[in-house]
Amino acid sequence: MADAQYDLILRNGSIVDGTGAPAAPGDVAVKGDRIAAVATPGALRAATAATDIDVGGQVIAPGFIDTHTHDDRFALATPDMAAKVSQGVTTVIVGNCGISLAPLIPNSAFPPPLNLLGKRDDFQFSTFAEYADAVDDTKPKVNVAALVGHQTLRVGSMDDVSEKASVAEVVAMQGRLAEGLGAGAIGFSTGLYYKPNKAADKEEVASLAGLMADMGGVYVTHMRNEHDHIADAMEETFDTAREASVPVIISHHKCAGPQNHGRSTETLSLIEAARESQTVGLDAYPYAAGSTVLDPDNVNPDTRTIVAWSEAHPDMSGRDLADIAGEWNCSQREAAVRLQPAGGIFFLMAEEDVQRILSYPHTMIGSDGLPHDVFPHPRLWGTFPRVLGHYGRELGLFPLEEAVHKMTGLSACTFGLKDRGEVRPGAFADLVVFDPATIRDAADFKAPTEQAEGIDMVIVGGAITWRDRAPTEARTGRFVRR
Ligand SMILES: [Zn+2]
Repeated sequence: MADAQYDLILRNGSIVDGTGAPAAPGDVAVKGDRIAAVATPGALRAATAATDIDVGGQVIAPGFIDTHTHDDRFALATPDMAAKVSQGVTTVIVGNCGISLAPLIPNSAFPPPLNLLGKRDDFQFSTFAEYADAVDDTKPKVNVAALVGHQTLRVGSMDDVSEKASVAEVVAMQGRLAEGLGAGAIGFSTGLYYKPNKAADKEEVASLAGLMADMGGVYVTHMRNEHDHIADAMEETFDTAREASVPVIISHHKCAGPQNHGRSTETLSLIEAARESQTVGLDAYPYAAGSTVLDPDNVNPDTRTIVAWSEAHPDMSGRDLADIAGEWNCSQREAAVRLQPAGGIFFLMAEEDVQRILSYPHTMIGSDGLPHDVFPHPRLWGTFPRVLGHYGRELGLFPLEEAVHKMTGLSACTFGLKDRGEVRPGAFADLVVFDPATIRDAADFKAPTEQAEGIDMVIVGGAITWRDRAPTEARTGRFVRR
């Protein structure tokens, strides 16, 4: 219909707009890459559209924003991104935990966890602007917003990352970070927990994060400690952000290790207290197990560990570290040494804490999925449907509208993503249509790449990118600049 009023109309929906407001029946009209109208039932009866779809009463919501990803290279190498699109995700935030693919061309040092993003040769961008352009040229199936990683800056600017950065090295890192922020990065991330960043103190981090007080952006941190010293790490986090005068987001908030189970009452109180005087956000994934590189020094024989990948023994992917150690007749630590380099899935948390943190009103949803792992943590394929299905519908942790808010409006607002995360006229037409009665995650720790159920349609920038459990031809994702 060449002279149609709109490009797309979704009729007969239950609109959950991302703000937390109650669902309301209605229709959504799209023109170009934006939402043109949100109307009560029947109000668009006479309107015409090139594509006109009756969604049969299903939910129309803003596309989900995956606030915590390591999809920096995944978006370039595998632009279909089925793991994310199949869940209803329309925007991913990359560059978390201090590791970003840009700006870095490694010469000698290439310390983990950089290898969660790719191999040394995959790091090809000497500037952040080149990475942003590569995303735009590739046109993945989801939008990409990016943080600049502290470890990436350290490896690219320092002779020895086991030291605190010198004044000259801080200046060099500031230059690279400023280039990234100027090229549209939405913030700066740290992974102070990891060995290559441990020597960085509050002063080093604040002198970098402080650039954003003028240039804009958020400080996002995988804190120095999520175990016994989590309260100290949180104080450090709040102090750093105050010193830098920037908003801060605590990544994948958790209380790790059996001795810390139940402490989320304490940690959420600390966040609540800090929020009285500064801007603090947090994200979480809906599982009691975490996943990252397998560091033999962190192996705890009392908590179950699954091998996610191993370069030395690829066939061990998916197996329990305890079983491998049994077969090899050695300790779990020794088995981890032999598997290097490797990644693991760690059953570190209490379900009680997971539920309390997910329920906290300011918690956003982020998968922390690791897209290059041979046997990935199921969060890569299941996070968003699991929050809506298991935790929302089945356990009643929150109403549907609040669950959607945690993965849309709240996320866009906290990370400063303009005109996203809401169904309203003028916002980008990033939308998902799903069945609230059947949506569920199917991936688990035995079959971690099973596609979720209940997602009918995904729309990115006005184009349908996913329908009937399969990708369409459209690839309309772009680099989201601040
Ligand atoms: Zn992390």
